[in-house]
Amino acid sequence: MDESAGIYLNDRLVSLAEARVSVLDHGFLYGDGVYETMRVYGGVVFMMEEHLARLEKSASLIELRLPKSPRQIKLAIYETLEVCGHKDAYLRVTVSRGEGPIGLDPELCPRPTFFVYAGRLKPPPRDYYEKGITLAMVHTRRNLMEALDPQIKSLNFLNNIMAKAEAKKAGAHEALMLNHRGQLAEGTTSNIFFVAKGALCTPGPGCGILRGITRDVVLGIARRLDMKVVEGEFGEEDILGASEVYITSTIMEVVPVSRFTGGRTKDFPGAGEVTRALMAEYRKEVSSYVENTKAAGPSIWGFTE
Ligand code: PMP
Repeated sequence: MDESAGIYLNDRLVSLAEARVSVLDHGFLYGDGVYETMRVYGGVVFMMEEHLARLEKSASLIELRLPKSPRQIKLAIYETLEVCGHKDAYLRVTVSRGEGPIGLDPELCPRPTFFVYAGRLKPPPRDYYEKGITLAMVHTRRNLMEALDPQIKSLNFLNNIMAKAEAKKAGAHEALMLNHRGQLAEGTTSNIFFVAKGALCTPGPGCGILRGITRDVVLGIARRLDMKVVEGEFGEEDILGASEVYITSTIMEVVPVSRFTGGRTKDFPGAGEVTRALMAEYRKEVSSYVENTKAAGPSIWGFTE
């Protein structure tokens, strides 16, 4: 438990002991709600606007009206960060359908529950970046887009939890899920990229993925570096034929894959040339974002150094 974490519940900062939600909250009963995970560097929330836009989109896709405006959410975020004891922090904003009688009808819940958590960041071990991780192809398929669109970052994470459990049993750090058509989709909390035939490839949004914010940042960097980028449809054989593989996520940033296990196993030499370049550029991008945000002066959201 992180005693120095900041917690904001509904309309105010609360202590961990006060941070209690009803057992009749539909987030608890049905996984009915949405969330965002953000990474805070030196007190600055990286890509906050993009994360809040995705929160809004996830909410609208489940017909949930956010109980606060973007400005109010930012204020809550910065208040929470200010009481949290960490400048490099893990930040999560959660909005559930709220408390209501048992039953699936969203109208049973008049008031969404809003919750911000800012706590100690546990970055992945250095080994992940230096040696790479193991990625296992799992049997669990990514949710069918027409059933529960993976674009919705919902509180119902069982699809990914089952895939993660499978990967763990296979001794891997992360799972690679296929979509129902047998095409590469994504990891349990990450997007996948690989380098093949001189191009940087990644499954396109039509493959049923969460469009990662880190993914978009990395695609932007790759295009700026004049790399050939292909967002398309791929299969396991494409990974087996790749020279480099890596995953991306807000918390992990860019992590090389050194072993892929599926129908067959393939070893990669840790971070290859392209991956190394993108890892370095990503860190630079974060640094300039943080510098620019700080240079914009004391934040209009009331956050001070
Ligand atoms: N896919 C899934 C299913 C995820 O949960 C995440 C983590 N949010 C990602 C991809 C990576 O997205 P981002 O880069 O925005 O963290």
